Amino acid sequence: MILDLKKLKRSGKDSSGFFFEYSPETELCDVPNAKIVLPIKISGTVTLTGEHSAYIDGEAVFSIAGECTRCLKDTENFYAISFQEQVEENNPDGYQVKNDTVDLRTIVDDAVMINSPVSFLCDENCKGICTGCGVNLNDEECKCKNK
Ligand SMILES: [Zn+2]
Ligand SMILES: [Zn+2]
Repeated sequence: MILDLKKLKRSGKDSSGFFFEYSPETELCDVPNAKIVLPIKISGTVTLTGEHSAYIDGEAVFSIAGECTRCLKDTENFYAISFQEQVEENNPDGYQVKNDTVDLRTIVDDAVMINSPVSFLCDENCKGICTGCGVNLNDEECKCKNK
């Protein structure tokens, strides 16, 4: 997932679009019993901002499939995460341009990790499972007799 700034400069344009399908080596989603469905689709625009620097405006689109954290129902939710980064050569605090190329992997890994959901629900109003009688409260009435 490499953006080649040299090639972009040679084309005589300031910016160009990109599209990648990306399968990260590590799981980027922290939700238990749920995983990102691979590949993640990455698209966006890279714009030259200097001799060896660029601005990246991108979007990562994916779904997460697994068990609803509250009721354990099989669920697949869709996410679109946007990221904007200025990349420079010799930039110790940020993402680097190396040999006029930008490796998007770390940028995307970070963006997905920071923005991936902390709770994973079949529905935001999911009522979950009764800890008393164990029924899925979305489908059934609680069977606990008293309190
Ligand atoms: Zn649920
Ligand atoms: Zn109950």
